[in-house]
Formats: sequence, C-alpha cells, structure tokens
Amino acid sequence: MKVCVLGAGVAGMTSAYFLAEAGHDVTVVERNAGVGLETSYANGGQLSYSYVAPLAGPGVLPKVPPWLLRRDSPLRFSPRLDYYQWRWCLQFVLACSARQSELTTARLLRLSFYSRALMHAMVETEALDFDYVRNGKLVFYSDPDSFRGAVAAMDYQRSLGCEQQALDAGECIALEPALAGIAREIAGGIYTPSEDAGDCYRFCVSLEQVLQARPRPVGFQLNTRITGFVRARGRIAAVRSDRGDLEADCFVVTLGAQSVFLLRDIGIDAPIYPLKGYSLTLPIRAESCAPRVSITDHKRKVVYARLGDELRVAGMADITNYRADLDPARIAVLVRQVEATFPGCADFSLSKPWCGLRPATPKGTPVLGATPYANLLLNVGHGALGFTLACGCGKIMADMASGRPPGISLDGFTL
Ligand SMILES: Cc1cc2nc3c(=O)[nH]c(=O)nc-3n(C[C@H](O)[C@H](O)[C@H](O)COP(=O)(O)OP(=O)(O)OC[C@H]3O[C@@H](n4cnc5c(N)ncnc54)[C@H](O)[C@@H]3O)c2cc1C
Repeated sequence: MKVCVLGAGVAGMTSAYFLAEAGHDVTVVERNAGVGLETSYANGGQLSYSYVAPLAGPGVLPKVPPWLLRRDSPLRFSPRLDYYQWRWCLQFVLACSARQSELTTARLLRLSFYSRALMHAMVETEALDFDYVRNGKLVFYSDPDSFRGAVAAMDYQRSLGCEQQALDAGECIALEPALAGIAREIAGGIYTPSEDAGDCYRFCVSLEQVLQARPRPVGFQLNTRITGFVRARGRIAAVRSDRGDLEADCFVVTLGAQSVFLLRDIGIDAPIYPLKGYSLTLPIRAESCAPRVSITDHKRKVVYARLGDELRVAGMADITNYRADLDPARIAVLVRQVEATFPGCADFSLSKPWCGLRPATPKGTPVLGATPYANLLLNVGHGALGFTLACGCGKIMADMASGRPPGISLDGFTL
C-alpha cells in the first residue's frame, strides 16, 4: 500500500520506519530541507519511560499564580484573543484532578513501556548513531514536601511496573557527584535506572539514512509545504502542497503543533496547543562538573542530559502562540540555572540556544489513530514526551494502516 507520512519530526520518522517494516511503500513529506528540524531538533534528549506523569496534576494549580508572577518561572502565560488558547487552559484546569492524573499516568506508562521495548529492539537491529545511552535518571527535589509526595507517587508507579528507588541527599551525590556543589539544597531524589537518553535530531537523521538504504527506500519529499486535503467519499484522496497534489492509499498526520490548522479545515478538532520550551546545548568544559546520569531539577523543572561531549539542558513552558521565536530573557534564566546547579561544567560562550513548540494536549495524552476519514490516521499531540513515545506511536500507525489491531489498547488516546 502507498502511505504518505505528513511531517518529518520524530513522530513522522518512526511512523515511516514501522510502515516500511510492515512492507508499505512510504513517502515522507516535509516543508523543511531536512528531517527533525522543528520541535524534534534540540529537545531535552530524555527517553523518559517512567516519568510520564502529566503536567496537569492535583498539585499544579496552587503553584500557577506564584509562577506567573516570577520572571524566572518555569511557566509563562501570555493571554491572546484566541478561543483555542482559552479552551486549552480550561480543559487543562479540569484535568488537574488526582483521579485524571493517575489515569493519564497509567495510560502513558502503557504507551511508554511499549515504546521502550521497540526502541531497544530498534537500536539492537539498526545502525543508529545518536549518542544513545542507558544511563538512568535522577529527579532531585529541594523541597521536603515535594520529595515526600514523589515517594508516594513512586509507590503508585511501582504498582504499574516502574522500578525506582528513593535516595537521600548523600545517596544522590554518591550517584551523581557533579551535584556535590548544591548538596545542601537537595532534600532527596528518585532514581530510575531504566531511563535512556539520546539526541533526537541525530536519531531522526540516522533513521532517514537507514530508511533510504533499504532495498525499497522510503521517499523523502522535502521542501514541500502541505496546504490542505482533497476529500472524496469519506476518504482523503490526496494532500495539497505547494508542489502539487500527492496521492496515496493512506495518510498519517505527524505535523506536530501545526497539525491543528490543516485538521480544522477538514472538520477535525485536535485539542492541541503549543507549549513553548527552551534548550541550551553546551560543550562540556570540566568532565567532573557535568552530570553523567540524566538529571531533572524538580523545583526548576529543568532537565539535563549528557549527549556525547555536550550537555543538553531544557525546560520552561510558555503558553504564548504558535511562533518558535527565541526569547533571550528565557535563555538567560536557563543559563543562570545551569551555572547555579553545575558550576563550571560548560563553556557558556559556545552555548547553542534553541526553542521549540511542544504539541501539548490538556490531559497530556497524544491523539492516535482513526479519524472520520477511513484512510487518515493521526499521530499528534505528544507534548513533552514525543521522543519517548515515538517508537510505540510509530508502530501503532503501521499496525493500523495494515489493518491489524495495535499492540496495546488505544483507550485514552483516540480523538
Ligand atoms: C524544550 C523541549 C524539551 C523537550 N524535551 C523532551 C524530552 O526530553 N523527551 C521527550 O520525549 N520529548 C521532549 N520534548 C518533546 C518532543 O520534542 C516533541 O514531543 C516531539 O519533538 C514532537 O515531534 P513531532 O514529530 O510530533 O513534531 P515536530 O518535530 O515538530 O515535527 C513536525 C514536522 O511537521 C512539519 N510540518 C508542519 N507543518 C507542515 C506543513 N504544512 N507542510 C509540511 N511539513 C509540515 C514540520 O516542519 C516538522 O518537521 C521536548 C520539547 C521541547 C520543546
């Protein structure tokens, strides 16, 4: 079957991989000159299979007002005259219950464990070069109450199959000596040995090479902007692009945060709004000062991943608009936070700042699978977990396009 994958971010690339594995004739259509150049470019690099709890949790709402008043806050909200922005915020508030948060966590763990198994199989079988490491993840807490809450959540997650350990401050430093400089700020940490990390952009590029080297290569139609869909008798006959119409038997939408516009034109209302985040990529200057284990600073909501000889730092969520324009003030906050946490670790004069738009749904679950159009599948809305969930979602696309039931239940992920 001829399948057209719309978008060459990490969701599109893994969809193309599993579709090609299933024997389909695949073409990926992308507006940029290369793959992985938008939100999948310089994200946090975390393959965070056990840390999937949604942003919408019971403890979040009381924190929002103080966050909105602080200039170095992890969250920023710029209100717009945009119905979709306000609707997203309202749905987010409604999702901030303990019950919904636990339900979402359980659903996302189902998908993330599935993704982990597929990613591990993929790195075993394919020659992929993306600074992939299985180095575990330590989330450290500065506030004793937050740490106690995390230990309670760990017990719930353990019941769902996560293997995690609670560490006191001394054990955190023993595990990651680069944290020694802030030992007095650490109330405790949760360590998950089974977490991985890697460079998402290089993963996309490596996968492109693998897909082009296949006996039946995957086609990449780059520099092609999709402008709409041609509908016929309850199906999609073609996608419209600035290079003409592209026909296929099946279409998989992986257009990230931009998906909403094209989908709305054909009556599909995906509940996605961009949460803008920022990252820094820093050449490591002093080995002993930079972490080897992936780190999350829970208070500041900043993640750190060692990618080869660089440190990737990412964080923040700005609910502003659909533009991925870099705000120097936000980058300056990130720089100060890295300097405070891992002093002397990197050469900041060579730092590469970046920002991207997390395609976020209010509850934190991606939207996968069937649409009102028989041959149009969705793989969108992965929020802060797109790299983590990419393999599972890609395989689900391949199974559904092939008329097979997906490998896991899609309960909670459908439109
Ligand atoms: C700061 C930050 C840190 C993050 N950290 C992590 C992390 O540590 N771990 C993790 O798992 N996830 C992380 N994420 C989330 C992750 O990066 C995203 O969920 C993921 O990249 C989304 O992938 P995607 O393929 O859906 O979207 P994208 O990567 O945005 O891909 C969509 C593609 O569609 C193309 N496109 C859009 N419109 C059109 C059109 N009209 N015509 C043609 N092409 C079009 C775009 O050019 C783009 O290439 C982070 C995100 C941010 C912003």
